[in-house]
Amino acid sequence: MGKPTGFMEYTRVRDHDVPAEERIRNFTELHTPLPEKERREQAARCMDCGVPFCQSNFGCPLHNLIPEWNDLLYRGEYQEAARRLLMTNNFPEFTSRVCPALCEAACINCLHGEAVTTRDNENFIIEHAFAEGLVQPKRSAVSSDKHVAVIGSGPAGLAAADQLSGRGHHVTVFERSDRVGGLLMYGIPNMKLDKRIVDRRIALMKEAGVEFRTGVDIGRDHSAARLLKKYDAVILACGASHPRDIDAPGRDADGICFAVPYLTAATKTLLDGEDPAALPITASGKRVIVIGGGDTGNDCVGTAIRQGAVSVTQLEMMPKLPDARAENNPWPEWPRVCKTDYGQEEAIAVFGSDPRIYETTVKEFLKDENGRLRGARLVKIHFEKNPETGAREAVYGEEWEIEADLVLIAAGFLGTEQYVADAFGVTLDARTNVETLPDSHATAIPKVFVAGDMHKGQSLVVRAIAEGRAAAREADAFLMGYTNLD
Ligand SMILES: Cc1cc2nc3c(=O)[nH]c(=O)nc-3n(C[C@H](O)[C@H](O)[C@H](O)COP(=O)(O)OP(=O)(O)OC[C@H]3O[C@@H](n4cnc5c(N)ncnc54)[C@H](O)[C@@H]3O)c2cc1C
Repeated sequence: MGKPTGFMEYTRVRDHDVPAEERIRNFTELHTPLPEKERREQAARCMDCGVPFCQSNFGCPLHNLIPEWNDLLYRGEYQEAARRLLMTNNFPEFTSRVCPALCEAACINCLHGEAVTTRDNENFIIEHAFAEGLVQPKRSAVSSDKHVAVIGSGPAGLAAADQLSGRGHHVTVFERSDRVGGLLMYGIPNMKLDKRIVDRRIALMKEAGVEFRTGVDIGRDHSAARLLKKYDAVILACGASHPRDIDAPGRDADGICFAVPYLTAATKTLLDGEDPAALPITASGKRVIVIGGGDTGNDCVGTAIRQGAVSVTQLEMMPKLPDARAENNPWPEWPRVCKTDYGQEEAIAVFGSDPRIYETTVKEFLKDENGRLRGARLVKIHFEKNPETGAREAVYGEEWEIEADLVLIAAGFLGTEQYVADAFGVTLDARTNVETLPDSHATAIPKVFVAGDMHKGQSLVVRAIAEGRAAAREADAFLMGYTNLD
């Protein structure tokens, strides 16, 4: 440990956010890094606590060697810090931008103060490594004669492909979209993750020999049976993109859209250099309702504001979370507290108030005579336990109407799309995730493995990477009879 007293000498300072009023003018990344000296001081706050919960099951799903690279960062040993970071995480440049930082919530400094800025420290290490040319294509010294198909190019598929290609297998990634990256590319907005960062990694993987085939929808325009015949192993990493709908009268109104297609169109226009005014769905000049108070809803709020929405209302069915941890939610558990994310901050800056309305849902979508959305009838909702059945039941209250021109549905995801499961003959569990053998990523279909949201349901980038690595490990053992992958 470089500086035993660091956590007492230095207070926590995060990378700076561009002020809300300024950043809403474009889709540029929100954060600007701290100067090097300050960043190293922040790393000195990691106190080598002895039992690092940050890398335990409470913290980082990748079990990143956090105290080790924090110490190396403090001591200025950047190359070794990057080497140790890349041992457990294929893509620190993604996690250090979008991860909610489970590691920080589990940092022991939280007990009597504030967590180490582990995510920002990670970002410094990996960006410094890229700038110094230290991140190179992962070429294997040996080459196997095995061919692996990875279906889906989100973080799970990419991590599996990176691991298996590094091991010497011939990997082809199939992606139905026109660009590689899954939700890293089309889903998470550019202000959180600049798409050049995704392309930079894909270029390295291509150099290492991974083949990417975009615009190929396996199970629809390419047969799964042919793929199973041709490849020695298949990893399904198709995500959990089936969106939860809102079942209310008037749902067919023109002007109601699911969150991910809306966010995808916004990013695609940006990347293709097209005129945002030509977007099929835009919030420009519109009164917007976002249904869903989660992270996807927040991304819709931030995007709608950048497109020039005249108002944004965000509906959340559940009650507002407390501002501080409740007694039954102690450290090092993830804190179930109310957070105000970047989109909500921007709404406060632009419109003067938090866009969220809690314990509220849509009872009816209101249409004009042309079938166009003109508003929504909202209703208060809370849940009570039925004393007879014990089940929690919705209780509805006050109703009122608000005007709206665009509704974005960000009400969660229902898991795997049925056609992919059918194409490969894999079964789905009650939560519509692909079923696997116990404690495994192998499905009941020989040589077919599954990883990421398709296996565990909609989750986080860091978990998808961990899933991709685990599936790669099992596929490698299946192909070679043993594995030396981590
Ligand atoms: C709007 C939004 C914002 C989010 N923000 C964050 C965040 O800030 N931080 C965070 O940690 N997590 C975030 N998440 C969650 C995170 O993005 C996902 O958990 C993660 O991307 C899952 O990775 P995956 O590889 O399993 O699937 P995905 O990223 O969904 O990738 C699956 C890929 O498979 C492709 N595919 C599907 N079917 C086929 C087929 N038949 N043939 C070929 N290709 C196919 C899809 O086109 C897609 O590209 C967010 C999610 C959403 C929706």
